[in-house]
Amino acid sequence: MCEICRNEKPAPQACLSRRGLLRFFGAATTGLALAGTAGAKEKTPPKPQNVVSPDASLELLMSGNKRYIGGDSRRHDFKHEREALVGGQNPYAGILSCADSRIAPEYAFDSGRGDLFVCRVAGNFANDDTIASMEYAVAILGTPLIMVLGHDACGALDATIKSLKDNTTLPGHLPSLVASLTPAVKAVSGSPGDPLGNAIRQNVIDNVAKLKSATPILSAAVEQRKLKVVGGIYRLRDGRVELIS
Ligand SMILES: [Zn+2]
Repeated sequence: MCEICRNEKPAPQACLSRRGLLRFFGAATTGLALAGTAGAKEKTPPKPQNVVSPDASLELLMSGNKRYIGGDSRRHDFKHEREALVGGQNPYAGILSCADSRIAPEYAFDSGRGDLFVCRVAGNFANDDTIASMEYAVAILGTPLIMVLGHDACGALDATIKSLKDNTTLPGHLPSLVASLTPAVKAVSGSPGDPLGNAIRQNVIDNVAKLKSATPILSAAVEQRKLKVVGGIYRLRDGRVELIS
C-alpha cells in the first residue's frame, strides 16, 4: 500500500508526485493534519471542523452563501483565528475565481480565515500555475472540494468575445488572457441566447473538466473520491452562487 495516498494500487506517477510535493513543501506542512499523508497522522488540524467530505464541503459553501445572500453573515473573530492558524492551514474548499472585485469568495461564502484556498485570475481559468496551486491544496492541505466560480458580466470573457468578433489584438499581456478564454467562446459561438452568458457558463464547465482531468494529482484524487470539482456562477444582483455542475 502507498503510505502517502493510502491507495491499494496507486498509480506510480501519482505517488511519486505526492512524495515530491511533500518533500518540497515538508517544512510548510508543520502543524497540518492531512488524511493520508505521511508524517501528519499525529497532528491536530488547526481547524478540525474543516476536516470534511467533499459533499459536506459543498454544503458548507452553500450554507455560507445563503447567509451572505440574506445579510446574515457571521461576525469573525480575526484575532483568535489568526493565532490558531500560525502553525498551518486546512481549508475546506479551493476556489478558482475571477479577479473581479465584486466577487470576493470569502465574503460570498461567509467563510473565515483558513477556510478557503483561493486562486483568482481574470476569467477564472485553470493554467499550469493555478493547477499547481490546487495540487498543493489537495495533496498537501487535504482540501476535499474545488469550485470554479464564474460570474455575471465577466469583463474578461466580454473582451475575448469582442476581440474575436472584431479580429483585433488587445494591448499588453491581454492577448494571453484572450487565448485562454477563446475555447469557451468558440464552443458556444452560434448558440441561441446571450453570447456572454453562454461563454461564462461554458468557461466554468470547461475548467471544471480541466481540473478534474489534471494528471497526475487532481485526477487521482477525484478517482479516489477524495476530491470533487464543481462549477458555480455568482449572480451579481443578489450574490447567489448557482451551481451548474
Ligand atoms: Zn470576470
